[in-house]
Amino acid sequence: MIGAGGVATVCAFKIAQNTHVFSQLMIASHHKAKCDKLADSIRQRGYKLPIETAQVDADDVEQLKQLISSYKPELVINLALPYQDLTIMDACLACGVSYLDTANYEPKDEAHFEYSWQWAYKDKFEKAGLTAILGCGFDPGVSGVFTAYAAKHVFDEIQQLDIVDCNAGNHHKAFATNFNPEINIREITQKGLYYEDGKWIETEPLEIHKPLTYPNIGARESYLMHHEELESLVKNYPTIRKARFWMTFGKQYLTYLDCIQNLGMSRIDEVTYEAPLADGSGKTVKVKIVPLQFLKAVLPNPQDLGANYDGETSIGCRIRGLKDGKEHTYYIYNNCKHQEAYKETGMQGVSYTTGVPAMIGAMMFLEGKWRKPGVWNVEDFDPDPFMEQLNKQGLPWHEVFDGDLELS
Ligand code: NDP
Repeated sequence: MIGAGGVATVCAFKIAQNTHVFSQLMIASHHKAKCDKLADSIRQRGYKLPIETAQVDADDVEQLKQLISSYKPELVINLALPYQDLTIMDACLACGVSYLDTANYEPKDEAHFEYSWQWAYKDKFEKAGLTAILGCGFDPGVSGVFTAYAAKHVFDEIQQLDIVDCNAGNHHKAFATNFNPEINIREITQKGLYYEDGKWIETEPLEIHKPLTYPNIGARESYLMHHEELESLVKNYPTIRKARFWMTFGKQYLTYLDCIQNLGMSRIDEVTYEAPLADGSGKTVKVKIVPLQFLKAVLPNPQDLGANYDGETSIGCRIRGLKDGKEHTYYIYNNCKHQEAYKETGMQGVSYTTGVPAMIGAMMFLEGKWRKPGVWNVEDFDPDPFMEQLNKQGLPWHEVFDGDLELS
């Protein structure tokens, strides 16, 4: 596993709970101390899984190759940042090892994500007889598995898909992001995008919004955003005429976000800053700073939010389609309580809802249920064994048939 952040912590705990499938784990990240701390916290809870740790710069293919070829894993689980997807895929190919991640590739200097970069590896993985599983978190991830499950068991034809993601939790901080702040703010501040009648339609950032009602939570203002899984889902289910992604944000969060943008702190280009040297000499040196990366350094670490986080998340798919010639609606969702996630893993619900599916995807691969040469999105595999594990591993799902989707 590469990365030792919030999502990786949850994934490692879940791996340690499933030793009937996982026999050994290597945790490697930028800073070895973080990996050691994580391994210790797992041991302290009494789990017996053998865990090794290592330092690796995942931007460096040669370092990755050395690590992978010395440890010889069956699968590399990439829980670092989207910037590292391609270097890790290159190293996996060079070492003959399969690959899984939770977020699609994004270049550092451009807030732009799409699958084309990773889909371009399809032939190489196929020829090498290796499996690459893309986007195996909650959204992307479970959102695609839910859609595949609906296509397999509920509908003859899916016509409309709305993925709805609500975080009704409260971490009691003025402003914090629930996963890596840099990646999160890049995602939220870009233009919205949705699919209708064969075309992609762009909107201004967070321009379209409406209140949606979430189970056990109530109405929350929900904003249309571009989200990566829409790209693969409309390709894999060509009967879909309309596909959108909605996420809730509170008023306070949006006010802060607005200020951050207006102050230039969400910029991802470099600015020159005259900084004092740390040696106390009073001398200065010109350094290049990316404002958003600096902001990340002063914002609360998402990994530290868990202790005071209350409330829950609710993420699901609202689907409209045809069965036996008649129109039906279907809503499938999971609710996850932040405090329960924290008690089990020390992390809040957003890390939990991402780390658990990453472990299940790895489990599916190791058990041979999700294993075929090539580069795949989660909906390319059988959803049934994954759905069964969601219920067993802490993310149970619920269904509403022919209810009001609130979305036309
Ligand atoms: P964190 O920032 O908490 O963790 C990232 C980890 O990657 C850190 O341990 C960091 O090390 C390490 N890392 C970063 N760069 C490198 C590098 N060059 N080499 C080695 N290690 C590196 O992020 P999260 O845990 O919040 O998120 C992890 C991933 O999960 C992200 O890609 C995110 O987009 C994705 N995600 C997916 C979701 C989904 O539902 N699909 C939802 C939420 C997140 P260090 O801190 O030591 O620098």
